[in-house]
Amino acid sequence: MPLWKNWSGRISAHARRIATPSHEKDLRALLAESEASGSKVRAVGTGHSHSALVPTDDIIVDLKALSGVVDIDPYRRWARIRAGSPISGLGKPLREAGVALLNQGDIDRQTISGATATGTHGTGRRLQNLSAAVQGMRIVLHDGQIVECDAQREPELFEASRLHLGAFGIVTEITVAVRPAYRLQEKLWLESLDDVLDRSETLTQATRHFEFFWMPGSSRAACKSLEETQLAAVYPLASEGNRLAWSDEVLANDRPEQHTEMEYSVPIDKGPECFRALRRLIRESFPGLQWPLEYRTLAADNVWLSTAYDQPCATISVHQGIDSDEEPVFRACEEIFREYGGRPHWGKVHFQDAEELAAAHPRWADWWRVRDRWDPNGRFLNDHLAAWRR
Ligand SMILES: Cc1cc2nc3c(=O)[nH]c(=O)nc-3n(C[C@H](O)[C@H](O)[C@H](O)COP(=O)(O)OP(=O)(O)OC[C@H]3O[C@@H](n4cnc5c(N)ncnc54)[C@H](O)[C@@H]3O)c2cc1C
Repeated sequence: MPLWKNWSGRISAHARRIATPSHEKDLRALLAESEASGSKVRAVGTGHSHSALVPTDDIIVDLKALSGVVDIDPYRRWARIRAGSPISGLGKPLREAGVALLNQGDIDRQTISGATATGTHGTGRRLQNLSAAVQGMRIVLHDGQIVECDAQREPELFEASRLHLGAFGIVTEITVAVRPAYRLQEKLWLESLDDVLDRSETLTQATRHFEFFWMPGSSRAACKSLEETQLAAVYPLASEGNRLAWSDEVLANDRPEQHTEMEYSVPIDKGPECFRALRRLIRESFPGLQWPLEYRTLAADNVWLSTAYDQPCATISVHQGIDSDEEPVFRACEEIFREYGGRPHWGKVHFQDAEELAAAHPRWADWWRVRDRWDPNGRFLNDHLAAWRR
């Protein structure tokens, strides 16, 4: 039984088989076969999720061989991308066609399919998560049939599966919104955490992207802003905080220190107060925590399971090293996130059950209804997801 582990090594599975299909037809045959034998199937991107989305003891499908850009329309502003493409491989081909992704997360190691499956996001008051940029998908279903969905074709499937958690089928191609290529100038500075929280409205509105990190024990926050610029890119690239280059070159960072992470989205006007409550908790109960808290913002969207569904958010992340037990600090933080009406990131640690998730997500029942219609035998549900089915 091959062993699969996620990026942090904290989540693993002994799968009966890890398949790496090279062609869509191989994937179709694999799914028809697993339907006949009653096996579970879970897709994997680059395993950067901290939650148990991928594990199954049946079949894990790795789409790395199905990667690359299929087509780009710079005028209608979309790009069709094979699902196994790492985001790090998209910047150059998109730029050569004069376009770029609307936003990216902290790193660019994830696949486009994994990132859109979980509502992965960057920061920016006017910028939505990556699932909101999805305009269409090609999905291989439980019986090996293919469905193409977008706002016109199978619109309900499309709406539900823009953030799909790997639960509808195996996605082989994704069409995402793009925009004309742009350059960003980055700034990094230290400022009193109290001042940053007091000024958060101004700071988050002042530039295209703003975020800050706070290290427990410190009275200051490391603030980072990125603004669009017409200035020429400067190479070799400067270090993080001082870069001036194309968006994909500035948005992606190196985050090599292995950790595990909890992140919640709270309504934007509650962000500073929630952060203060977390600071109080950590000062009083977890003074030894040696990992930063990160504060970002996210524009509202209409993606059914998005943490920003119908409301702009502040997203707050808490990290812990992989050699420590994260549960006590994460559970205590989660109590605070609950008080502030938070919704957990799908790809990070949380301890919510079906009832709580249903209460937090107005389209929860719709999402399950559509999912169950397209995967009636639950082929794409592992234990982690099945526990939420009501
Ligand atoms: C160092 C680090 C930095 C991160 N930074 C950010 C950040 O800045 N912002 C943020 O929001 N998140 C961030 N994350 C979380 C990460 O972006 C998400 O967990 C993302 O889903 C990981 O993508 P992946 O390709 O590794 O997918 P995986 O973790 O492998 O899979 C995620 C989900 O996608 C499904 N899936 C993948 N491919 C397919 C497919 N072809 N068909 C069907 N289902 C599929 C899987 O079944 C699973 O449900 C970070 C994680 C790490 C470890």
